[in-house]
Amino acid sequence: MAVKVSINPEACIGCGLCISLAPDAIAFGDDGKAQAIGEMDEATADDVVASCPAGAISR
Ligand code: SF4
Repeated sequence: MAVKVSINPEACIGCGLCISLAPDAIAFGDDGKAQAIGEMDEATADDVVASCPAGAISR
């Protein structure tokens, strides 16, 4: 199932890792923080949640 993650802009440090893992679903906003712009598959969502060094991403 496709899911859209939530990203806490207060916690995001703008490293870009999540964007490299899900370039169709997450992009940088004008503030330099990651924003969810679309959906991704379950496995990718698990990956981005687990990979964020700031713990900013949740499902
Ligand atoms: S992986 Fe986390 S800290 Fe890095 S850009 Fe994405 S949300 Fe921000």
